[in-house]
Amino acid sequence: MAEQRKALALISGGLDSLLAARVVQEQGVHVEGVNFYTGFCVEGHTHAIRKKDRNRAKRNNALWVAEQLGIKLHIVDIVDEYKEIVFNPRYGYGANLNPCLDCKIFMVGKAREWIEHHGFDFVITGEVVGQRPKSQRSETMPLVQHDSGIEDRLLRPLCAHRLPETLPEREGWVDRDRLYGFSGRGRKPQMALAKAFGFSDYAQPAGGCCFLTDHSYSVKLRDLWQARGERQYDLDDIMLLKVGRHIRPAPHFKVIVSREEGEGNFMAGYRKQYPSLKTVSHGGPIALLDGSPTREDIELAARIVARYSQGRDAQEMILEYRTITGETSELRIKPLHPDDLPREWQI
Ligand code: SF4
Repeated sequence: MAEQRKALALISGGLDSLLAARVVQEQGVHVEGVNFYTGFCVEGHTHAIRKKDRNRAKRNNALWVAEQLGIKLHIVDIVDEYKEIVFNPRYGYGANLNPCLDCKIFMVGKAREWIEHHGFDFVITGEVVGQRPKSQRSETMPLVQHDSGIEDRLLRPLCAHRLPETLPEREGWVDRDRLYGFSGRGRKPQMALAKAFGFSDYAQPAGGCCFLTDHSYSVKLRDLWQARGERQYDLDDIMLLKVGRHIRPAPHFKVIVSREEGEGNFMAGYRKQYPSLKTVSHGGPIALLDGSPTREDIELAARIVARYSQGRDAQEMILEYRTITGETSELRIKPLHPDDLPREWQI
């Protein structure tokens, strides 16, 4: 009996990676999945917190895809290694701070290391030629293979007919005739294939799989780098950029104000790392202070927080200021008038 070949599929949680893995699985190959965690992932984070996304399934779609396929999923934390890709992408950024081409090369390279270490034969991605303006073009496909070191051990089942034969096809591990030739941004062929496989409930295609494709997120990340005087971040920084209103009245400090209860609860978990403000006399948000605010800055921050509270029209409001070690003090302030909150403070 022929040896069963083994493939590792990059699983983002979207439809394309689901289909690509299924196409290969159908051909008798043993497939396992890998999902790389960068800290910028959209999955299961903000839409699990915010009310406006209440109707979306609060699930980790990569795990869900693995469950649909009946495969093992390896979730690999690459938060630290990934920073270099974000700071210095060799091939530059996309429309925002998304280094998609470098990111793809990096992830395929990590997958290559993984298969070499675990005795797997090849890697699968759900890429489709022409789907993404920067990272999924016919010219960049060979670049990903070469720079990642995977060369012809990378199979893209959804667009294989538009690409040269790969090792798994040449060796007969998969039948090229049972692969596809999808191209472009249209989703109809994928939807038809999903239907043929019996998948009806899959993650709807979004703008990108991570926050780096988001304009306002990228603006906040650039602001953070500028304020810190260097391109640096840690996991807490990039998590907090996903929530709240970010207001920077001066280069040396920033106020992060929760916009709703879910965000407030999430941010409360950071009160041991950031000084915080909470409204006392009226219902209102919680805020975290980032940087090195002076006593006057804390008062200004309290006035800003009050402006987003139920006491915004009151003559005086009481807030509680809390240090990271838990000491509290009371602040009595007048809420800031909206006209006194310059547009340029709002990141
Ligand atoms: S959207 Fe984000 S995770 Fe996806 S390829 Fe681009 S940089 Fe990488």
